[in-house]
Parts: sequence; structure tokens; C-alpha cells
Amino acid sequence: MKINIDNNSGFCWGVVRTIDIAEKSLEEAKDGNIFVLGQIIHNPKEAERLENIGLKSITHKDFERLAHKGAKVIIRAHGEPPETYQKAKELGIEIIDATCPLVTALQKRIQKHYLDGWQIVVFGKEDHAEVIGLKGVCNGNVIVIQSVEQALEKIDFNKRTILFSQTTMDKPTFHKIKEAIEERVTELIDEGELKEQFLAKDTICHFVYGREDNLREFCKQNDVVIFVAGRSSSNGKSLYHVCQSVNDKVYFIEDHSEIDFDWLKNANSVGITGATSTPQWYMELVRDKILEKITN
Ligand code: SF4
Repeated sequence: MKINIDNNSGFCWGVVRTIDIAEKSLEEAKDGNIFVLGQIIHNPKEAERLENIGLKSITHKDFERLAHKGAKVIIRAHGEPPETYQKAKELGIEIIDATCPLVTALQKRIQKHYLDGWQIVVFGKEDHAEVIGLKGVCNGNVIVIQSVEQALEKIDFNKRTILFSQTTMDKPTFHKIKEAIEERVTELIDEGELKEQFLAKDTICHFVYGREDNLREFCKQNDVVIFVAGRSSSNGKSLYHVCQSVNDKVYFIEDHSEIDFDWLKNANSVGITGATSTPQWYMELVRDKILEKITN
């Protein structure tokens, strides 16, 4: 049996940057006073590795406890709303900003359109950290939707509307939503006025959708595919569905102990791949666990 690790998998640029910032901050801090707000990335294995070298995860509620004690708090790639920065400033907490620059750029774009009077709609998950940050830059005035039905129900079509996307959502659904809004708006306006009344900006990260074609190819080339990701990873779910669309023997795991070796029966090739937050070292460990089992 051949075991192949997907060459195109592993961390995206934004996650590499966040991990680098965290590692450097830990190296430089002599007093161990480095914290991260939330889980550094949506992968428990990598989060655990960083915890083992001293990174402590906190929530917003811990800010008061850390006030004026020289604490440094890392903002992870998903970003945070402005009030987090404000609160840290008031409490004498130093922020180390590891927000992915693509997310920062999206926050700025959304805020600009909000200030220009557009009704802001985001295709995303209401409670996802990135979306909370996006809402924060518009004082909460963002309509968050995940489907065509929600779009038609929640949007006020009398208002000038702009649609954006959380960076890790799936493109086909974004385009379905865009078309449905366009259709509805077109019914209400005069011909030629669509661009003044509705704009759609596909802000899905190219590190996520850019992987889709390669991923489909990889899944077609392997009899069985083990998809490794954190269960809370949004792009993990999205990329897993991409794999399932071309191979019905794709299995999602977070931990190598979840592998059922019956899955691999009669397989000539097993592919290992994952989300943009899945570390290479963990996929290698999954490969070694499979090798260990099949060679014993
Ligand atoms: S998926 Fe894209 S937006 Fe998200 S952290 Fe990675 S590079 Fe940044």
C-alpha cells in the first residue's frame, strides 16, 4: 500500500505568519507572560504544541485579571473587533497583532462601505471569530447569512447593499447567494441601475479555494483519503466537502486514534491531506501511525 501526503496541504500563508509571530514572541519573552486570545488556530494539535512551549490561551474575561501586569496578548489570524484593542489599552495589556493581513484588508473594506452608507451583508458564520471582528468594525450593523433563504429573508432590498464573504466559506454557495440577491434587486429597480444598488465582492481567500482543484485531483488519485483537521476549522469542513465530491472513501479525523483500519482494507493507495490549519508534522505522524499498523 502506498501512502501519499498531499504536497499542496499544510498551513496557509496567514497561519504560517501567525505561528511565526507566536514562536518569536515566546522566544523573546523571558517572563512567560505571553497569551493568545482564543485557540491560536483551529487545530488542537498545533495549539497543544505551542502550549507546551509556553503559550497560554485566554478569553476576553481574563483581561481584567491580567491588567497592568506586563501581559502581552496575541491576536490570532481571524482578527478581533476594535473594542478588544480598546479594552487592552485601557487595562495596560500589550497587543501583539497576528491578524492575517488578508483579514485586516477585508475589515477595512467592509468598514469603508459601511461608513459610505451601504447595507453590509456577510456570507459567513455568525459566531465565527472572523465574523465577530467584521461586525465589530461596523458597530454590529452587519447582516450575516449562510444561505439563499436567509439572504432573501434578512436583507432590506430597499437599501443599497454590498455582499462580502468570510474568507473561508465556499465559492459555489457565495455565487448562488449573489445571483439570488441580484435577481431580487433587479425586480425592484430600473434597468441599468444594478451596480448602484447591489455589489458583490468575493472575498473568499485564494489560499482556500486555490487548493480545491489540486485537492480534487489528489482525492481522485488515491483509493482512500484521510482528511486531517480540527473539528472547529471552517475551511476544514469546506475542503472536506470538496474531497467528498470526488471520492466516497474520504474520512475526517482530528486525532490519529480515530482511524479505523477497516477503512484501508483493499486500498492500494491512501492519501493524507488536511485544512489550511493542519500542520505538516501531524500529517506525517498520521502516515507513520498507518505504516506502523500495516507493517506489524
Ligand atoms: S485562510 Fe487566507 S485569510 Fe485565512 S489565515 Fe489563511 S491566508 Fe489568511
